[in-house]
Amino acid sequence: MKLFGEKCNRCGVRTRNKADDAPVCERCATEMELAVAAGSEDVRSCPVDGADMKKEIAHIVVIDRCCECGGVWLDAGELRLIREDVEDMALRSLTSSFTLPPV
Ligand SMILES: [Zn+2]
Ligand SMILES: [Zn+2]
Repeated sequence: MKLFGEKCNRCGVRTRNKADDAPVCERCATEMELAVAAGSEDVRSCPVDGADMKKEIAHIVVIDRCCECGGVWLDAGELRLIREDVEDMALRSLTSSFTLPPV
């Protein structure tokens, strides 16, 4: 068993998580599940111009983005999830700069 696991197929981060025998980090596995789930959701119309909104995955939540004006729609609770995820990433980059000082 490798100490640091293998590189995630999708983002290249070290992981021991696997999906279909390929190394995929938990974050990417979650995002891929979300993408599948998003595909079965109804397409929303933009509240501004009525154009169809496209599903996107951002910070482990599914958002609806308008193709016309670029407006973004969040479901209830998604803003909080995004904020927590951003804080988590910021924290991780902080701690990794402590453990891996520039040579
Ligand atoms: Zn990944
Ligand atoms: Zn729009």
